[in-house]
Order: sequence, then structure tokens, then C-alpha cells
Amino acid sequence: MVPSAKPVRKCHACPLNLGDRCWHFATPRDQWRAGRRCAGFDNATLQAEFRLWQKRPQVKTRKELRRENSGARKRSSVLGEQRPKRGDKH
Ligand code: SF4
Repeated sequence: MVPSAKPVRKCHACPLNLGDRCWHFATPRDQWRAGRRCAGFDNATLQAEFRLWQKRPQVKTRKELRRENSGARKRSSVLGEQRPKRGDKH
């Protein structure tokens, strides 16, 4: 069986829980296995590192930049004139 990266129910209140994965551990299920308590849960050092990681500058991928700019293109002509709409009479 392939180990899952998805956090378990006990991870619910943990700030390191990113929803589909844990920020620190590859297999959250193993951290809670057999009555153990996760070392990252309520760990102030890890949480401080996580907050620093969140504040880091982000580099956007080409795909993200393209998506951002695709809606920002101007639809008017180069001279700033409005193109006649369909059905407009001159
Ligand atoms: S650090 Fe531990 S409790 Fe927090 S999300 Fe990861 S596995 Fe769960």
C-alpha cells in the first residue's frame, strides 16, 4: 500500500496542516501511529519555521504569469479608438 501524504483527523488543529499534505512530514499517519503523539503538533520551533516559510518571496511560474496577464489585455486598438460594434451605423 502506498503511504498517503494526507493529514489525518488528529492533524485538524495543527497549523502545519496544508489540507492535502503536511508541511513537515511526508506521511502524517505514521506520526500518530500506535498511540504516538506527533512531534510537530504544538511544536513552537517548527511553527516558527513554517511562518518564516510562508513569508518568503514567491517566484511565479510561467503558467501563473500567463494566467494573470491573459485577462489584462486591452481590447481597444493601438490608437485608443473604439472599434465599431456589430450593428452600429456609421
Ligand atoms: S505536524 Fe504532525 S499534527 Fe501537524 S499536520 Fe503534520 S503530521 Fe499532522
